[in-house]
Amino acid sequence: MLSLKNLSKSYKNNVALKNVSLNISEGICFGLIGPNGAGKSTLIKIIASVIQDYSGNVQFTNNKIQIGYVPQEIALEETLSARDNLHFFGRLYGLKGAVLQKRTEEVLSEIGLTERGKEKVKTFSGGMKRRLNIGCAIIHQPRFIIMDEPTVGIDPQSRRYIFNMIEKFKSNGFTIIYASHYMEEIEQLCEEAAFMDHGKVVENGSIEHLLKKHAVPSIYVKGRMCVPDDLSQTCSKGKDGGYLITANNPLAAMERMIHFCNENSGEIERLELVKPKLEDVFFSLTGSQLRD
Ligand code: ADP
Ligand code: MG
Repeated sequence: MLSLKNLSKSYKNNVALKNVSLNISEGICFGLIGPNGAGKSTLIKIIASVIQDYSGNVQFTNNKIQIGYVPQEIALEETLSARDNLHFFGRLYGLKGAVLQKRTEEVLSEIGLTERGKEKVKTFSGGMKRRLNIGCAIIHQPRFIIMDEPTVGIDPQSRRYIFNMIEKFKSNGFTIIYASHYMEEIEQLCEEAAFMDHGKVVENGSIEHLLKKHAVPSIYVKGRMCVPDDLSQTCSKGKDGGYLITANNPLAAMERMIHFCNENSGEIERLELVKPKLEDVFFSLTGSQLRD
């Protein structure tokens, strides 16, 4: 679908991207993860042709592909209504007449703003503006949608709206690039992801592969008991007065805990498998939490 080769970009002396190469397959949601300043927006702007002075190569398998680009900064005319903003963007994409009217109403309904269509954007909440920002990017029915941090600072209802839209795009076979520094969003929405840090892709692949390769599973245990010596090395304090024990084979560790407790008259109150999270992958790759 899209192949990126050795992309580099500097803003004067500031190197924002260093030799980034990625392949993005058709019909998936591809996540770009990384802390602020990692280079996500720069990479996205290059793909969307907003930035044109860069080195490297961007190749689409289909040259005629229509792109819907949702920028990180909201780009709306505040003094116009939602409907007029959609008309404006629609005309930019060459829509007119009945087609433009029809698409405008469809998009208003899709972003949940039909009832507020007449109202000026400056009266909208942050979440409503975000939704309209997405609406403007999809008015021309692109099958490739790039979203740059579309859920920063919005209410849960708008987030749910946006997530439902993305699920619908996916079920229609659209390709999506989704940049975020919220790991749990990427984990929920994306099939594949790339971790970026300091302008480089640190690691990429399917979410499943990334979790398997970098994050160690663990178990949570709470109760009146002690931890056997062979598990104590990887044991740390967990929440609610329990313990977290990382183990490559968590089921065996659970079994070991149960036996040990029975033999030593301990009492287990809670014993759970803790699934590895993308957050752990990032930590294992960079040795730091997301700086934010
Ligand atoms: P992210 O989207 O991951 O936060 P960006 O691509 O916005 O990262 O930024 C990458 C680096 O490039 C940062 O160091 C940032 O300060 C710098 N940068 C981004 N845009 C500009 C610009 N227009 N002028 C100068 N430096 C920029
Ligand atoms: Mg950004």
